Amino acid sequence: LKGSNEGMTATDKEIERALRPLSFEDFTGQAKVLENLNVFVRAAMLRGEALDHVLLHGPPGLGKTTLSHIISNELNASIKMTSGPVLDKPSDLAGLLTNLQPNDVLFIDEIHRLNPIVEEYLYSAMEDYKIDIMLDSGPNARTVQIKLNPFTLIGATTRAGMLTSPLRARFGISCRLEYYDAKLLTSIVQRSAAILGTPIDETGAYEIARRSRGTPRIANNLLRRTRDFAQVKGNGYINVDIAEMALSALDVDQNGLDDMDNRILMTIIDKFKGGPVGLTTIATACGEEAETIEEVYEPFLIQEGFLKRTSRGREATERAYLHLGIIPNYRTGD
Ligand code: ATP
Repeated sequence: LKGSNEGMTATDKEIERALRPLSFEDFTGQAKVLENLNVFVRAAMLRGEALDHVLLHGPPGLGKTTLSHIISNELNASIKMTSGPVLDKPSDLAGLLTNLQPNDVLFIDEIHRLNPIVEEYLYSAMEDYKIDIMLDSGPNARTVQIKLNPFTLIGATTRAGMLTSPLRARFGISCRLEYYDAKLLTSIVQRSAAILGTPIDETGAYEIARRSRGTPRIANNLLRRTRDFAQVKGNGYINVDIAEMALSALDVDQNGLDDMDNRILMTIIDKFKGGPVGLTTIATACGEEAETIEEVYEPFLIQEGFLKRTSRGREATERAYLHLGIIPNYRTGD
């Protein structure tokens, strides 16, 4: 149930596609980002030019892929999708770039994981719409320059800090997606329920929304699982009681924290006296990868005030102690 899209089945992906908003108008939240993108898209269309390259960053499941599709729809352009780790060789990139029609969109997910050699090729493609391809090797080696149609690169990343500065500098537009508040997520849950044909009342939608870690993908997943409970244990209708029953069966607690969130906090408090403790130590103790903790779990725990990042490591906050029902040592004097 975490925000990432790893481990999704074909049905999950199909449903996720069906729930995806298709236009700026359909998209809920991220108001400032949307307002700006709308202006930039309109201006590029008026000038008949390609939209400047766009970097979308923020935690997983907040709508980076969705927004990229919307941008290409609004530009009346086609979109080609790929991801950093898939682009192994410069020729993989060249193949994609030379197939783009004027003003098309190329979407590269996980752009912080590009092979450095491929990244190098991307620079001239982004800057001057051309690439130099090396033909032959040894004494016959020569480069030919291929002119590309103007295009928009949309890069998505959960780790903007890991982008090299030459790459970051080539994005004219950079948007940070933020966690959604419970009110926005309530309307996303209501919209998704309508598409799925599931009756739901506002308190039921709110209960799912407020326990979804600020993330539309999680809200949609929890809605689908709650729908199962409503059909099997109830009469198909989602109200607050069914939502509470489903969420507690799914180990999503009252603050929306899941099993791993709680394990991370408990580990810091129980094994490391509340911290500070290093990320890799926490990861080993929790049996989770450090990268996943840093990208998926930690940003939400920090935003909600359960965790603090200090120069000496991670520390549990008073709210974390309260949440887990533990009295801090400094209070008991132990
Ligand atoms: P990742 O980086 O993990 O791929 P992402 O940020 O690209 O995630 P999306 O795949 O765009 O996230 O969105 C995940 C799901 O959440 C989709 O099913 C999408 O329909 C839904 N979703 C995201 N943002 C919104 C929104 N603002 N309104 C309605 N649904 C949304």
